[in-house]
Amino acid sequence: MKYEYTRVTPEIITELAIIVGRDNVSTSESDIQGYSHDEAPLAQSHIPQVVVRPTDTASISRLLVFASERRIPVTPRGAGTGLSGGCTPICNGIVLSMERMNHILRIDKDNFVATVEAGVTLSELQNQVESQGLCYPLYPGEMTATIGGNIATNAGGMNAVKYGVTRHHVLGLEAVLPSGEIIKSGGEFVKCSTGYDLTQLIIGSEGTLAVVSSVMLKLTTRPAKREVALIPFTNLQGAIDAVPQILRLKMVPVGIEFMEKSIIHIVEKHLGKELPYHDHEAFLMIIMEAELESQIYDYFSSVDQICKQHGAIDIMIPGSKRAMRELLDAREKFYPAIRGFAPVQLVDIVVPRSEIARFIARIKKISKEHNIPVIAYGHAGDGNVHLHPVCVDMSKEEWLKKLPPLLKDIYSAGVSFGGAISGEHGIGCDKKPYLAIQMNAAYLNILKAVKRAFDPRNILNPGKIFDL
Ligand SMILES: Cc1cc2nc3c(=O)[nH]c(=O)nc-3n(C[C@H](O)[C@H](O)[C@H](O)COP(=O)(O)OP(=O)(O)OC[C@H]3O[C@@H](n4cnc5c(N)ncnc54)[C@H](O)[C@@H]3O)c2cc1C
Repeated sequence: MKYEYTRVTPEIITELAIIVGRDNVSTSESDIQGYSHDEAPLAQSHIPQVVVRPTDTASISRLLVFASERRIPVTPRGAGTGLSGGCTPICNGIVLSMERMNHILRIDKDNFVATVEAGVTLSELQNQVESQGLCYPLYPGEMTATIGGNIATNAGGMNAVKYGVTRHHVLGLEAVLPSGEIIKSGGEFVKCSTGYDLTQLIIGSEGTLAVVSSVMLKLTTRPAKREVALIPFTNLQGAIDAVPQILRLKMVPVGIEFMEKSIIHIVEKHLGKELPYHDHEAFLMIIMEAELESQIYDYFSSVDQICKQHGAIDIMIPGSKRAMRELLDAREKFYPAIRGFAPVQLVDIVVPRSEIARFIARIKKISKEHNIPVIAYGHAGDGNVHLHPVCVDMSKEEWLKKLPPLLKDIYSAGVSFGGAISGEHGIGCDKKPYLAIQMNAAYLNILKAVKRAFDPRNILNPGKIFDL
């Protein structure tokens, strides 16, 4: 769909400087290039005409009033670490970067709540709350991401089995509507049955409904001990089959990851070192926390028994903080490693976790039919499967041509297993062509009606998730 917007002129830039302050407006070449894409593997660049970096909610409000009146597209941006093209300004216009709204406003140790501006990074939040003896337990992979970006994508990550995803930790937020009006939802309390829940509607809306300016986050305390186990298997089916039984044990693990041999070899090459048991076909990696070390070891002993029934070779528990960190580091490097290996696409389908093995078997069949290898790994404990169609033994041009029909078959398979197109990265622009595989017209129409209610002039992150 084609949108008609006002182009940003030098006069408009002068007005923006009055609205948000001269120092917070940039048209420099390096800024507009740097804000033209995110970290999606096939990220396309779309150049904004201007980047603004407001320092307070009132400036965002004035900016959106102006952009609405003039009909200029505004694309909110956190740290640009998204993986679906969500913060790419596909209609050009203004990029609204939240990087200068990066203050932790309050850590309430009695109510276990942190109130932060949306541009605070995940690493800054974690450092600050941990220095107060509390913890924000989510770990959505990339610590330079902002809390606003995490909220807009409903980020998940490795700790989701025990702690859930971003939406389970947001108690309330302040947001600016495209009209410039400011709304506040929720509060420093856990229960609320007071009207429609706009907090939860804005979470996962990928910057299409409102600009989140500040957030109240639920904190917790962290158990004293943490350990990781790496379990090599003779095949992936056995590894996945062990998961439901592991989850029936009384203690809940923080996360359960699965991976195939191929990704282990790619990450070894990237890191320039060998990983333990690297020649086995498949692996589970289980992260566990408890108050006592003995509780963790008892738990892993039960896990070992279950896994051996499903073809596990051994269970490796690093035993030192350094060795544990090395193992987790290797897992965290999967995405940069595979991007360095070959051109890839990234699919983050979620299926019911009991279906992962059957789903991956189907994907291997689809991969053969399309003659494109697909590497699989992901969050076995919550059903979130990351798939990378890889460009090998053909030109990138040919691969790019073959990719859309392959992706259509992959997404259709995911939905047929009771799954969803995206488990944690969002739709952005990358997955937009595939949304109708999951959602019928009635569902999509409600989404569009919600978008129109928030943003009647369609200025906020237009062209993301769906076309109006
Ligand atoms: C190496 C690597 C590993 C990753 N691992 C994981 C993982 O395990 N799990 C996971 O879930 N994600 C993962 N990600 C993806 C990424 O970190 C998340 O999507 C993150 O939530 C994006 O935050 P950001 O600040 O970078 O947002 P951006 O990329 O800047 O923006 C993402 C979306 O949020 C919107 N947005 C940003 N700020 C606001 C705001 N204040 N108000 C309204 N809308 C806003 C944007 O318009 C866009 O639609 C990974 C990324 C990388 C590079």
